[in-house]
Amino acid sequence: MKHIEIVVPCYNEEACVAPLFEAVERVFAGIKDHEWSILYVNDGSRDGTLDELKRLKEVKGDRVQYISFARNFGKESAIYAGLSNSTWDLVVLMDADLQHPPELIPEFIKGIEEGYDCCGACRVSRKGEPLIRSAMSRMFYGIINRVTSMHLVQGGSDYRMMTRQMVKSILLLTERERFTKGIMSWVGFETKWIPYENVERYAGKTKWSFFGLVRYAWSGFIAFATTPLRAVTWLGSIIVLAAVAFAIYTFIDALNHPEQRTGYATIILMLLFLGGIIITILGVIGEYIARIYMELKHRPIYIEKINTVKERKDSVHSDGEVSDAEN
Ligand code: UDP
Ligand code: MG
Repeated sequence: MKHIEIVVPCYNEEACVAPLFEAVERVFAGIKDHEWSILYVNDGSRDGTLDELKRLKEVKGDRVQYISFARNFGKESAIYAGLSNSTWDLVVLMDADLQHPPELIPEFIKGIEEGYDCCGACRVSRKGEPLIRSAMSRMFYGIINRVTSMHLVQGGSDYRMMTRQMVKSILLLTERERFTKGIMSWVGFETKWIPYENVERYAGKTKWSFFGLVRYAWSGFIAFATTPLRAVTWLGSIIVLAAVAFAIYTFIDALNHPEQRTGYATIILMLLFLGGIIITILGVIGEYIARIYMELKHRPIYIEKINTVKERKDSVHSDGEVSDAEN
C-alpha cells in the first residue's frame, strides 16, 4: 500500500489548517488502497497557526505532522522544507487555504498509476481574479517560455502529486533563490494536467500583494534566464553599428557640403562610439557573470528516470521503503 504525504506550507492560516485536514479526510474516506498523512510547514506564522497545529495533532494523531520555522522564510523555503522532510512514496504539494481542491487527489492517483511521475492541477478559469493580474500572468508565461529552457503551462499550479524520484530530483537543486514551478519543469518527467476551476480562499487573506507578485515573477525569470545580462551585448553592438552608420553619413554629407562643417558630428560620433564599446564590453563581462551565476547554483548535470510503472513498482517495497534501485 502506498502512502501519500501532503505537504502544506502555512503562513497565518489558523482558520484553514483544521478545515483542510477535514476536507482531505473526507476525500480519503473514499480511497481505500492508499495511506495518507499531512505534513504542515508553519512558515513563521504570527497568528495561532502553531497552536492550532498542536491541537490538531492531539486530536488526529500521527496523520498530522508539522515543522515550524523560526521566522517567515517565504513559501518557497516552506516548500523546500516540506519536500526534504517528506519520507513517503507519493508527495502532494497543496496550499493551506483550500484553493487547491483535495477532491482532485483520486485523479492524481490515477495519473500516477498510468505511469506519470507528476500529476498537477491546471486552472482553467481565473474567476475572482483581477483582470490586470490575469493579463500580467499571461504575459509572464509567454515571455518565460520564449527566453528560457523552461516550459511553464498556462494556469499550471504547484498543486501536484509527485513520485519520490521526482521529489528527490527537485531536492538536488539546492539553489537559494528558489522558483519551484520552474524547478519542477526543469527536472523533466512528464506531467499530467488535470483541469480545475478557480476556488476562492476558505478564510484569511492572500499573502500576495500586486507588487509581491511582480517581484516573484521577476525572480522566477532571473532564476532561469540570463537574458538580461546577455541583452547588454546586443545593446552595445547596436550602438556601435549606429555610430558607424552615422559616421559614414556625416562623411558623405561633409564631402557634399564642405561649407557647412561645424565639428559637432565628430563629438557626437566619439561619444556614441565609445559608449557603444563600453556597453559591449560590459555585455561580455555579463556573459561571464551569467556563467558564474548558473555554475553557482550547482544544479545536477543530469537527472535519471526510472521509466516504466512496472520498474517503479518493483523498486518500491510495501510501506514506502525505497530500495537501492531508486536510491
Ligand atoms: N505561504 C507561506 N509563506 C508565505 C506566504 C504564503 O507558506 O510567506 C503559504 C500560504 O499559507 C498558502 C500558500 O503559501 O498556503 C499560498 O499562499 P496564498 O494563498 O496567500 O497565495 P495565492 O493563493 O493567493 O496565490
Ligand atoms: Mg491561496
